[in-house]
Amino acid sequence: MDQPLDRDLSGPARAAAAPPLPGAVPENGGTVRWQPDRSVPPNAPDPLPPFFTALGRGAMNRCPVCGVGKVFAGYLRVVPACSHCGTPLGELRADDAPPYFTIFIVGHLLLPPVFWVEAAYEPPMWVHMAIWLPLFAAACTLLLRPVKGATVGLMLKLGFGGGEKVKAELEAGETGPLREPPPRG
Ligand SMILES: [Zn+2]
Repeated sequence: MDQPLDRDLSGPARAAAAPPLPGAVPENGGTVRWQPDRSVPPNAPDPLPPFFTALGRGAMNRCPVCGVGKVFAGYLRVVPACSHCGTPLGELRADDAPPYFTIFIVGHLLLPPVFWVEAAYEPPMWVHMAIWLPLFAAACTLLLRPVKGATVGLMLKLGFGGGEKVKAELEAGETGPLREPPPRG
């Protein structure tokens, strides 16, 4: 009960845990030790612009990476790749995120005046509907596109993109070593 708890670190186990001398044969039979990836310099600059620059470019329908090419090929259809720098913007699936952000923003912009008008004037309900429904529809329609562009920039900054392409290549068998061998016979 009174034995010190760290006795295992004072014997041969401690000597084994010490770093081996340069050139010494490792005791574990030459198992390759993990090494950090030195191909990328530790202080390499981020190829992407700063956070708000990327989001702002996307909101302005400009490629978040280069700021020159366009993000959209229509109202909401994202181009397959930037026409200037080739970033595969089309692989970024924003899905439901832009409508969610848009509703969040428009709700916070328009609900306070809704409550204020009701408290100040108490208009009949049809007046509310006549005023606010078109306003909500117009605001959401106008904001959805820049919000989706900013979402594309946000996803780039968060490291999305490319996953679906790699997955498609795996399923198509274009990366051979990872593909299961075909059955023989
Ligand atoms: Zn670009």
